[in-house]
Amino acid sequence: MKNILDLTLEEFTEWLKANGESGFRGKQVFSWIYKEVCNFDEMKNIPKTLKEKLKENFKISIPKIVEAYESKLDGTIKLLLALEDGNIIETVIMKYKHGNSICVSTQIGCRMGCKFCASTIDGRVRNMSSGEILSEVMVAQKYIGERISNIVLMGSGEPLDNYDNVIKFLREVNAEYGLNIGQRHITLSTCGLVPEIYKLADEDMQVTLAISLHAFSDEKRKEIMPIANKYSIKEILDACDYFINKTKRRITFEYSLVKDVNDSKEDSKSLGKLLKGILCHVNLIPVNEVKENSFKRSSAKAIEVFAETLKGCGVETTVRREMGSDIDSACGQLRRSYLKSQD
Ligand code: SAH
Repeated sequence: MKNILDLTLEEFTEWLKANGESGFRGKQVFSWIYKEVCNFDEMKNIPKTLKEKLKENFKISIPKIVEAYESKLDGTIKLLLALEDGNIIETVIMKYKHGNSICVSTQIGCRMGCKFCASTIDGRVRNMSSGEILSEVMVAQKYIGERISNIVLMGSGEPLDNYDNVIKFLREVNAEYGLNIGQRHITLSTCGLVPEIYKLADEDMQVTLAISLHAFSDEKRKEIMPIANKYSIKEILDACDYFINKTKRRITFEYSLVKDVNDSKEDSKSLGKLLKGILCHVNLIPVNEVKENSFKRSSAKAIEVFAETLKGCGVETTVRREMGSDIDSACGQLRRSYLKSQD
């Protein structure tokens, strides 16, 4: 049976019409599901006959909350969710002054192989469907009882390695009858799949693009990110240039600071030279230490020097505030420890 959340409104409306129903029911049904996260029987303004038809043809696949952790430090919430086929994913809700933000997963596991990242250690299990990604937001919103206004695609998975489903998700999450989260409030993070960056630029969307750069040279990048063997920094920056011209949106470059790997003052100067003049912003992320590898976080001093040096080169720079450090909130660590505990 099809998960109704995997359909766009157009697809569902077509189905309704083909089955002798009025098209306007589409928005009503979707609004119930998205906003109330309810089943067909609970939809008050939907006729009984239609409800029966829907039940015969569709399921509403909502993940179950397996565990929920709340940070005592900053209120960050991490949800471990079980999808219908039993796969486990993690979703993080961060509370900021300007609103609630969610970090969603887009794949079960990941096949990009970045050396410092926990999500990729066991490879990719499968892509998530657009409906599954949507339901992360729905479940999170219901759990906190508040609206979520910002989304970052920075959980497990490489969004551009699951291109079609992610694009479908980005269009649906935007719908005003549903979750109504503006594209300008959505950031898609990629390790740099060049052809897909061009494709994304051509989608005519207003999402923010974040590129996981983590090094200023191809040589250094190859040491920590296998994708660097496929696409050079030059190719990535050309694609970014195209994206900026097409969308007029500023790009974010993510740079995880790893002690003695990419955090020297020289690294910062070289990065500054590379990025100067590009419409961008650098987000420095002190690396989250993962027990499966030996990468260590840079010292507070090194982080400060790196940030100041970069700013001195004329590149806008921020250091990412650490959220939920008491609940293993980073980068696939929780899913891993949960799966291990079930072995
Ligand atoms: N696949 C996408 C999204 C994944 S994660 C991407 O590569 O961009 C979001 C960010 O967290 C990426 O910049 C990723 O490189 C970074 N990241 C992964 N593991 C990390 C760790 N242990 N510490 C700090 N940043 C990490």
